[in-house]
Amino acid sequence: MKENLKIGIMGGTFNPVHHGHLVAADEALYQFKLDKVIFIPSGDPPHKNFSEETIAEHRYLMTVIATSANKKFFVSRIEIDRKGKSYTIDTIRELKKMYGENTGLYFITGADAILEILTWKKTEEIMQLCSFIAATRPGYNISRIQELKEMLFKKTNNNIEKIFVMEVPALAISSTDIRKRVKEGRPIDYLVPEGVSNYILKHGLYR
Ligand code: ATP
Ligand code: MG
Repeated sequence: MKENLKIGIMGGTFNPVHHGHLVAADEALYQFKLDKVIFIPSGDPPHKNFSEETIAEHRYLMTVIATSANKKFFVSRIEIDRKGKSYTIDTIRELKKMYGENTGLYFITGADAILEILTWKKTEEIMQLCSFIAATRPGYNISRIQELKEMLFKKTNNNIEKIFVMEVPALAISSTDIRKRVKEGRPIDYLVPEGVSNYILKHGLYR
């Protein structure tokens, strides 16, 4: 009998996508035997600050370029095409509806982001719909995830088994640093895939 699908979800602004994202997604594929990982770039915020924000279309296209060679990586427009701000819970509900009850959803985040997501409202419903994979990230203390698990355990009784900590080779790469580097004329080669750095150059992003 065919086993149920296991799908990884990698949400982010991806402004721009970099090797930290790709390594985390690939490691999750391997460690959790996922069938695929769907990258979901966030939509544009309602009030755009053009000096800081990069329009969704650019972020989406860079994510497509970065993931194109991997047969198990996909990119979804679900948040980009939605009007207004997207909440994680809405995206997860929609994916659950699309893929069906029996599909396992694994939300992949950095150790920093899981702390933000799971202290939001709707935590309990989110935890019912999907599991979480928290990738270690330089500069973030994973003991805080343990505290979070204990807090959730008290609140919900059993959801503790749905949060997994995943060790990834430490990559001290962030989109913030990449944007800063571009602005200052410093190199970003090898921090992002070649197609992404070419795209940034071609469109004059982050200058
Ligand atoms: P910014 O600096 O603009 O916040 P970012 O590098 O944190 O960008 P995001 O798009 O915010 O990138 O991140 C999307 C997801 O990827 C988040 O869950 C984040 O924690 C995770 N992530 C980002 N960089 C890394 C990394 N180097 N290692 C592991 N996880 C990462
Ligand atoms: Mg971030």
